[in-house]
Amino acid sequence: MMRQAGIYITEEEISKIEVVDFGLSSLETEGIQVLNLVNTDRLAAKVLVLFPNQTEPEHWHPRVGDDPGKQETIRHIRGDLRFYVDGPDTMEEGFFVPGKKDVYSLRNELILKPGDQLTFEPYEKHWFQAGPLGAVLYSFSTTVRDGLDGFTDPAIERITIVQDDK
Ligand code: ZN
Repeated sequence: MMRQAGIYITEEEISKIEVVDFGLSSLETEGIQVLNLVNTDRLAAKVLVLFPNQTEPEHWHPRVGDDPGKQETIRHIRGDLRFYVDGPDTMEEGFFVPGKKDVYSLRNELILKPGDQLTFEPYEKHWFQAGPLGAVLYSFSTTVRDGLDGFTDPAIERITIVQDDK
């Protein structure tokens, strides 16, 4: 999907795409695929992919010590993408993950077109979802500490733990 969006990616980078299921073991419903292009102690750039109808859970990027928290700009590249932010309930196209309406508090719907950008300040909650085409987007930000992100859903663990079936 990244290549279909016209983004040049090496074979080595393909092997480094991070597949994140947030510890929910329901990847195709709630999850995201991430290629980290750069992550220093000051800046980061990623390519993000959502599969068709996949949802990135509601989260925010908290302050960490002296760091005021991640400031993030996303830019939509390809597919169909909805973002949910603070504001009046305008939800029309999107849907709640079945049985999880209570862990998605934001209902202000922004329908993004390729080329649209949004910037989030630390602590500004957001969640996003692809439509039937899936979505490819860029994320540009200050340094990333994904392991410390806050999630509305208490069942989420950002660092995936792979366990053997018993
Ligand atoms: Zn975010």
